[in-house]
Amino acid sequence: MVILENVYKIYNEGTPQAFEALKSIDLKIAEGETVILNGVSGSGKSTLLSLIAALDKPSSGKITVGGELISKLPDLHASAYRAKTIGVIFQHFNLLEALSVEENVMAPLINSRLDMATIERRVMKSMALAAISHKREGEVKALSGGEKQRCAIARALVHEPQLILCDEPTANLDRANSLKFIEILQSLYEMGKTIIVATHDPLFEGLSFVNKVIHMEDGKIVKREE
Ligand code: ADP
Ligand code: ADP
Repeated sequence: MVILENVYKIYNEGTPQAFEALKSIDLKIAEGETVILNGVSGSGKSTLLSLIAALDKPSSGKITVGGELISKLPDLHASAYRAKTIGVIFQHFNLLEALSVEENVMAPLINSRLDMATIERRVMKSMALAAISHKREGEVKALSGGEKQRCAIARALVHEPQLILCDEPTANLDRANSLKFIEILQSLYEMGKTIIVATHDPLFEGLSFVNKVIHMEDGKIVKREE
C-alpha cells in the first residue's frame, strides 16, 4: 500500500538554514497494516506523514501509495489523491466550532458529486464509527476535548479513505479518551484500513493489532519491530 524508497527531506534546501529532516528512509507498509511511528519530538515523524499525504514533496527518493507515484504529484493531483485515499487525524482538530457535529462531518462531501442520500448514509456511518452519533446535532464548541476529537475522526472517515494517518492523536486527550481513541483505531483496523500513527504515547506500546513499530531518531529509522 505504501512504499518509500531512499526518501530524503531537506527543509530550506540550498540556503544556510538547510536542514535534513529525513535521511534515507526505506519503508514498506502492506494494505491493512497498522504501523506506529515512534520517536521523540523533532525526529521527523510529522514530516514523514506529510510526504505520504502529499502535503509536501520529498527532496529525493520515491513514494508510492496504492500503486500511484505520489512523490512528484502536481498540487492539483495531490488534493485529488488526498480526497480519494487519505484520512488525516491531527492533535488539533480544525473543526468549525459554530457548526454542529453533523455539519462538520458532512463538510468534505459538500462539493462531491454524491447524491444527498449517499452523503447522509456516509455521515451516519462515520459518526457511528467514531462513537459521536449521540452528539450529532450539538454545536462543536460545547463538546469536550475527547468528543471534539471523535468529531474530527468522523470527518476524516466520511470519504471512506483506505489510508489513515494520525499525528500525535492522543497528545491533548486524557487517559480515558486516549483508550477510547485506541478502540476506534482497532475497529478501523478490523475494517481493513491501513493505519499509520505518529506518537510517543506509551499507551500505544504492545497493542495486539499493531503490525510494525518504526523507531525514528534524527530523521532516520533506527529500529524496526515487525
Ligand atoms: P516530529 O513530528 O517527530 O516532532 P517533525 O517532522 O515535525 O518531527 O520535525 C523534524 C525536524 O524538521 C525538526 O527538527 C523540525 O524543527 C524540522 N522542521 C519541520 N518542519 C520544518 C519546516 N517547515 N522548516 C524547517 N524545518 C522544519
Ligand atoms: P470531559 O468529559 O472530557 O471531561 P467535559 O467535562 O468538558 O469533558 O464535558 C462533559 C460533557 O458536558 C460533555 O458531554 C460535553 O459535551 C458537555 N459540555 C461541556 N461543555 C458544554 C457546554 N458549554 N454546553 C453544553 N454541553 C457542554
